[in-house]
Amino acid sequence: MAVAAQEEAQRPTCWCCGNAFDEHDLTRLGTHPEVGVCAACARWLSRRARSTADADVHTVGAVVHRPFAATRDLVVRAGLQDWPLLGRVVRRLDRHLP
Ligand SMILES: [Zn+2]
Repeated sequence: MAVAAQEEAQRPTCWCCGNAFDEHDLTRLGTHPEVGVCAACARWLSRRARSTADADVHTVGAVVHRPFAATRDLVVRAGLQDWPLLGRVVRRLDRHLP
């Protein structure tokens, strides 16, 4: 039992959410390889970067993306992603939306 706990403590953690992952499940930053983020946090960071870049842009892609980003923010603020049944549907849907 103590060995399992020690192995868990030695697993690398995501620098964003703090959860432990296997090394191959983390993405390392180019000039700062000590920093690794999990796939879910990398996706979140990508969306944040895209929202910031699209803030003052009026391209078709940016205009289409804004309602999805606004809806996502509302859902997260309401905490729907943590609801027992609806949360599962919302999280699955989120993986397929822009
Ligand atoms: Zn993470």
